[in-house]
Amino acid sequence: MSKEELICSFCARTKSQTQLLIAGLDSHICDKCILQAYGIIEDENKKEENKRKKLDFELYPPRDIKAFLDDYVIGQKEAKKILSVAVYNHYKRICQYHESNDIEIQKSNILLVGETGTGKTLLAQTISKFLKVPLAIVDATVLTEAGYVGEDVETILTRLLQAADYDLEKAEQGIVFIDEMDKIARKSDNPSITRDVSGEGVQQALLKLLEGTTVNVPPKGGRKHPDQKFIKVDTSKILFIAGGAFDGIEKIINKRLNLKAIGYKTKSEAETIDNTNILKYLTPKDIRSYGLIPEIIGRLPVLTFMNPLNKKSLKSILTLPKNALIKQYQGLFKMDNVELSFTEGALDFIVDKAFEYNLGARGLRSLCESVLNDAMFDLPNSKISKIKINKLYVEEKLAKVKLRPLRIVS
Ligand code: ADP
Repeated sequence: MSKEELICSFCARTKSQTQLLIAGLDSHICDKCILQAYGIIEDENKKEENKRKKLDFELYPPRDIKAFLDDYVIGQKEAKKILSVAVYNHYKRICQYHESNDIEIQKSNILLVGETGTGKTLLAQTISKFLKVPLAIVDATVLTEAGYVGEDVETILTRLLQAADYDLEKAEQGIVFIDEMDKIARKSDNPSITRDVSGEGVQQALLKLLEGTTVNVPPKGGRKHPDQKFIKVDTSKILFIAGGAFDGIEKIINKRLNLKAIGYKTKSEAETIDNTNILKYLTPKDIRSYGLIPEIIGRLPVLTFMNPLNKKSLKSILTLPKNALIKQYQGLFKMDNVELSFTEGALDFIVDKAFEYNLGARGLRSLCESVLNDAMFDLPNSKISKIKINKLYVEEKLAKVKLRPLRIVS
């Protein structure tokens, strides 16, 4: 090396070893060091960008989440509290994901157990509304193991992509509500007897999805479009909420509680079991006895229950939530400049009928529809500006419906 040959001040390569050596005030930099420095800048920019993305949704504390749920969902105090914390932790985990912290926080997917029509789907919908993230509602009963008639589990993510208008980033932070999770319970205790393609097979297929993995998703879903290009979806930031009625699980819980009572407890302790909703004693073990495989239960670590709706909650559902049915009808009537109101007696009668027919909150809508149908038909052409529905009116309208019970059920 000649004495005067210039060198890169960063890597000490001589000018002849580089393609380009740029001079600064009293130093030099070679093409390789420039590229390397550029790479570092790009990495830093990406980190910054990720941090900014993280701020796309705000992280609200559990109390705020619960307060929002209270506006839409009646009762279900325990489920709301547990859900609020789980959602908070889940989104904290996503923030951490962007900050690449050392401690890896695991997913807090949720399993909601409770009778149909008690608000499981509504809870998932309200959370997605609160967080402004896309929501896909899927029915576990249509899923089958890959290669069998039915839908592959990947189509769950197709729905999420659709809900996110194919914005991959949004979809990857969305929520999936898997309904009827209990219907994919293992059909028999001995899984090897027959292939259980819609039970344990689906549970196995769901495992990876719930845990977090990259899945090739057919954007249009199904197998009818074999030539469609797959979209790679990372499920590690997706919150999965599974729901199910788990019909008959009370027996399993009761059996366990009684065994325990006989085994370890005194009689008076055993009597303290609150029988109003035995589901409150639900444990992962009961879910396992019901037929979900331990691996799935492990990936749905947040377990909570729904209370059945009594008449009081049904009446509240009619009138109190932000988008309560009665408020919706009042809005519809207002568009025709008609002021709609109900007497307490009328509301109680509707609730009684929903309860009597065992229709739950879902029945309230069809009952209201039957009560108000004539009024909605006649009033737009009339000069009437006020209508107060009383018990007698409801009785009359529902008496007709009695002859057509199918209409109520639909
Ligand atoms: P599930 O998923 O438990 O079967 P849904 O959430 O689909 O029940 O509830 C059906 C309908 O009943 C909802 O659209 C909602 O209008 C009403 N509903 C049920 N439970 C509640 C509740 N706790 N608070 C308010 N509305 C409810």
